[in-house]
Amino acid sequence: MARYTGPRCRLCRREGCKLFLKGDRCYSDKCAFEKRGYVPGEHGQGRIKASDYRIRLREKQRVRRMYGLQEAQFRSYFDKVDRQKGVTGTNLLVLLERRLDGVVYRLGFAESRSQARQLVRHGHFTVNGKRVSIPSYLVRQGDEIRVAEKSKSILPIRQALGAVARKGVPDWLELDEDKLQGTVKAMPERMHITMPIQEQLIVEFYSK
Ligand code: SF4
Repeated sequence: MARYTGPRCRLCRREGCKLFLKGDRCYSDKCAFEKRGYVPGEHGQGRIKASDYRIRLREKQRVRRMYGLQEAQFRSYFDKVDRQKGVTGTNLLVLLERRLDGVVYRLGFAESRSQARQLVRHGHFTVNGKRVSIPSYLVRQGDEIRVAEKSKSILPIRQALGAVARKGVPDWLELDEDKLQGTVKAMPERMHITMPIQEQLIVEFYSK
């Protein structure tokens, strides 16, 4: 599936918030959003009319970009949760959090979701003892995610783990740094997603 390969900092500026797409750099004073927190382009500093449609579109784009998904894939997640019981917006966020690439990122084995996706694709992780190279694999309660034996010394994982203390691991996951293993203690809940997201706007966008 085609991926966005352009400048990632531009996406943060476009969405008007930090999406944390570049690992360590996002926490440093080199962050482009900190320096130029306005929309990129010639008219970026001008006034932009905020229609209802635009507000909902931007919220959807913000979350889609945060998770690094293409529109078709994001839409298919929405269609899936739209058929489920419960609050659609919350179910959508919970489903996105359960992706293996996101879990690898949250556990601190990667500096960003895109790096996590690449590491998963290259077969550096196992789930319950079996190698899984599908970033969209959905974890379940009790799953054990481990760095594969042959991958334990690879530099990006070691470097990413160095920053785990600063980022922290969410309550629904448990990290055993010595064993390079993470456990899904519970399913994620809305309160575990700390980014400022108004998921109801995404529901309204797709329900128009
Ligand atoms: Fe966004 Fe990170 Fe770039 Fe800052 S450094 S603009 S948070 S991707």
